[in-house]
Amino acid sequence: MAASQSFEVVVVGGGLGGLCAALSLRQRGLRVTVVEAAPQLGEIGAGIQTAPNASRVLFGLGLRTRLEQVRCVPQDQVRRRWADGSIIAQIPLGQRIVEQYGAPYWHYHRADLHGVLMDACLDPEGPGPIVRVATDARVIDLDRTQPERPAVLTADGRRFEGDVVIGADGIRSAVRDLAGFDDTLVFSGEMAYRALIPGDLVAQDPATRFLVDRYHSTIWYGPDKHLVHYMIRGGQHLNVVAIVPANDTIARSWSEPATAAELAAQFGDWDDRVPTVLAKAKDEDVSLWAMYRRRRNPVWVDGRVALLGDACHAMLPYQAQGASQAMEDAAVLAEELGRVTRDGIDAALVRYVDRRAKHAGMVQDASLRNMSFYHLPDGPEQRERDEKLRRFDGESDVSYHWLWSGSPLTDPDTESVHYQFAR
Ligand SMILES: Cc1cc2nc3c(=O)[nH]c(=O)nc-3n(C[C@H](O)[C@H](O)[C@H](O)COP(=O)(O)OP(=O)(O)OC[C@H]3O[C@@H](n4cnc5c(N)ncnc54)[C@H](O)[C@@H]3O)c2cc1C
Repeated sequence: MAASQSFEVVVVGGGLGGLCAALSLRQRGLRVTVVEAAPQLGEIGAGIQTAPNASRVLFGLGLRTRLEQVRCVPQDQVRRRWADGSIIAQIPLGQRIVEQYGAPYWHYHRADLHGVLMDACLDPEGPGPIVRVATDARVIDLDRTQPERPAVLTADGRRFEGDVVIGADGIRSAVRDLAGFDDTLVFSGEMAYRALIPGDLVAQDPATRFLVDRYHSTIWYGPDKHLVHYMIRGGQHLNVVAIVPANDTIARSWSEPATAAELAAQFGDWDDRVPTVLAKAKDEDVSLWAMYRRRRNPVWVDGRVALLGDACHAMLPYQAQGASQAMEDAAVLAEELGRVTRDGIDAALVRYVDRRAKHAGMVQDASLRNMSFYHLPDGPEQRERDEKLRRFDGESDVSYHWLWSGSPLTDPDTESVHYQFAR
């Protein structure tokens, strides 16, 4: 085969990780097909935070201006005690983060962030070949009869063949299983309520108005539970994630409907502001999710099949880094595949894993450590933790400096970062 600079990549899964990979690869001139099980590309109704390590990758894809139209800028990160709401620690975000890390800490509605990535993948004016998208295409088989042209097969009989297959199909990855990677799935024993609370109700109530007056993210710490909330979509919603011990059914069902009353009752003995704000959610905007993770394992590549995002390093969301790490995967993968011709693909994939697996594994471990760190009962250990949070720029034992600096990129996008912020 001729040593063309462009070859074909099949990305299974059109979530935030898959689309970020598709766009990054497109911009390196590769021909990409996204194969997605859902009838249409999309994301769930919930918020997401991107720390500077992820914002930097998104800016590198030329998305800054479009993201500015949909993001919220939190000014502070506030940590509160469950019983009385007293502030344990507060660190400034906003402009301080931009100055320190060259990229911002932003909040979004997931659908908005996903939409920006999707539009850029499909933009006929964008650099590189337009990404092809196949929806309603659930991958159920992998054909490696020709190891250098792996193909995925879908439930409705379609076949998508490429020079590389990327499994970006999430925590329950089919590609992972079909390619024979180890089973690393672990249930944490916890579950997350997710809720979107109407911003106008939060603004109207004098007890919760402070959440709208100055955007910030809040982490509440209590025995066996914690809660995170922040505003998204220009104040349209307060996004809430509340982690509590699992019920008897969630490990099997993975997700269940829930009500605002049930969520508020979980925090009935917390500072009044917590149940007050939670009770404002509409039942249709409350849901319950099992908290699974993947055990750290640096094997992400087998021949021409590679994994990305939750498929290889699903982590507990206790550092808000799962999607952000997937975006770092995408940037590094594209750097490596973008500089080789077909005969260099195998080595490029190994370099991708070499540059990413240890880094993402450390974030996985740190997120897991936060499970006990966040949920300490009141007592000496909790007081020691709070003291640490007061003086340490990070959580657990991973510093924000390391986390937010991200994996070193060989081709960082200095243009879009510096144009905006250095003026
Ligand atoms: C409560 C909570 C809060 C979080 N908050 C944050 C945060 O603030 N910041 C952050 O960075 N991360 C956060 N995360 C983590 C983040 O949501 C995930 O890490 C991220 O969405 C993973 O992206 P992905 O593309 O790897 O997988 P997914 O988003 O799961 O996408 C996988 C895609 O593959 C498709 N698919 C699955 N199987 C198949 C198949 N067989 N064939 C074809 N397609 C298939 C799915 O339909 C889906 O579209 C949070 C997670 C949780 C649970």
